[in-house]
Amino acid sequence: MPTTIGRFAPSPSGRMHLGNIFAALMSYASAKSKGGKWILRIEDLDRQRCRPEYSQQIVDDLLWLGLTPDEGPGSAAGGPHGPYFQSLRDDIYAETFDRLQKAGLVYECFCRRQDLTASSAPHASDGHTIYARTCLNLAEAQKAELRLTRKPAWRILLPDEVSTFTDGHYGQQTANLAADRGDFYVRRSDGNFAYQLAVIVDDAMMGVNEVVRGRDLLPASHEQTFLLRSLGFEAPSYCHFPLLLSPDGARLSKRDRSLAMDRIREKLKPGELIGLMAWLVGLQPHWSPMTIDNFVASFNWDLIPREDITVDAAALF
Ligand SMILES: [Zn+2]
Repeated sequence: MPTTIGRFAPSPSGRMHLGNIFAALMSYASAKSKGGKWILRIEDLDRQRCRPEYSQQIVDDLLWLGLTPDEGPGSAAGGPHGPYFQSLRDDIYAETFDRLQKAGLVYECFCRRQDLTASSAPHASDGHTIYARTCLNLAEAQKAELRLTRKPAWRILLPDEVSTFTDGHYGQQTANLAADRGDFYVRRSDGNFAYQLAVIVDDAMMGVNEVVRGRDLLPASHEQTFLLRSLGFEAPSYCHFPLLLSPDGARLSKRDRSLAMDRIREKLKPGELIGLMAWLVGLQPHWSPMTIDNFVASFNWDLIPREDITVDAAALF
């Protein structure tokens, strides 16, 4: 068996909150419980929203909790697959984009945001709008004219083909790529590469063979496995976990200030926070402190629920 290589790939667009830390802990424990490695990669492609000081805080919060990366920021040795900041990897993405372009797998899209959000447009299971392929068959003359006033984004052309993979936690997943998922961006009109392209290139180049993340990204794994295969890369194994929800049913987010890491660190010690997570995911019957090593030792995907988990911050703290 090859060594398991997992990763945590947060975006430094604010202070981490309980949901982010949960994601970090799940990916860490899954890899470490198999004797594997854990990489930290900073997904700072969105230059408008991401800030270096948030990256520093992410590292600080992870180390405070005892989650020391084997590679990437915060690790002792750095690692052989850098840079670990997506904002520094444009040349790598450009090379991959070039391959997609040469293979005829991408096409220009001139649509503006308002063109894409028509209420009649079909939606995928995760809520995103399925692109209607408005720009797929534009004549060369039309494109030339559009280019005079607009910079195109680039989309991948998905085949009318069934995609199947087995998630380690949610089982077999099936979707028709063209009909259920829709042609997605690989490059934005501002020239930046899109998340879907960057994430698969990074995982492949960094040797990541286990992707552990929230189940909101379960459907997008179809696009990612397609893109990986198209480029001749092997797809990692996927293991998605349930989401943490606030009592109103919304996903935990940065808006829940009481669950931001600065607030949590004022109230809890690292072992108390790890113990809380262990209790929330069913690794222990009540909330008592736990070391990170014990969390890893008791980690078992069979015990993790598939239903989302409600966290009532007001009742907890
Ligand atoms: Zn378009």
